[in-house]
Amino acid sequence: MTNLERLQKLVEFQQVFLQKKHIYSLYAEEEKKAKILSEENQKLISQLNDLKVNIEEMEKKISEENSKKDEIVKKINDLEEAKEKIKVARQMRSWEKDMEKQKQELSIVQAQIDYDSAKLEEMKKNFSHLDNLIKENQQKIDELVAFADKIKSEHKEEIAQNQAKENEIKEDFDVQFIEYFEALLNKTEGNALVEVEGEACSGCYTILPTSLQGEIGENVPVDEIQILQCPNCFRFLYHSSWLR
Ligand SMILES: [Zn+2]
Repeated sequence: MTNLERLQKLVEFQQVFLQKKHIYSLYAEEEKKAKILSEENQKLISQLNDLKVNIEEMEKKISEENSKKDEIVKKINDLEEAKEKIKVARQMRSWEKDMEKQKQELSIVQAQIDYDSAKLEEMKKNFSHLDNLIKENQQKIDELVAFADKIKSEHKEEIAQNQAKENEIKEDFDVQFIEYFEALLNKTEGNALVEVEGEACSGCYTILPTSLQGEIGENVPVDEIQILQCPNCFRFLYHSSWLR
């Protein structure tokens, strides 16, 4: 393969790169948004799972407190029943003391139940809020992914052709060179091989050294064409007359 043929192939490779970039640009924003939302949803789902565990623990705690309350209520009822049988004043004082103690305990456990129930209510509200947020996000993600998929499917043939062309050209170059060229394409956004305009590189508009100017021109014989780079921006250079 002559250097001119190599340059022609690199031009083609660059065109394929630009076509791929163009197709990607049609859904890039949606794909990025979907990715950000997915990451956000992963965090929310983990928060939701933590909250679920906390709610279960709180429900268990309240259920234990209610059992305790039932026991106290039962003791108070027993005391009420026993009251009629008391004949001696001394026993009555002891009964009053017991009753006072149970009522105090009942009031403490009731306050704890009320406090924990309010907390549980708050947790359930948060749970439902998070759950809705996750569902809303998922809906948005699905829409964004569907949009990207639609564009990809509309350009299916073009994408396949580009990929085939790219693979075909890659085989004509050694891996190291083509990887470097691809990196340069990425860096220059698809402008890695440029024409020399007058005496300057049309990539960075730097005036080329005189020696380089002599090697890239209309009058260079085909078999003397070299693959040269701009010493300033490292883009590869060609003369427009070479590719006519
Ligand atoms: Zn340059």
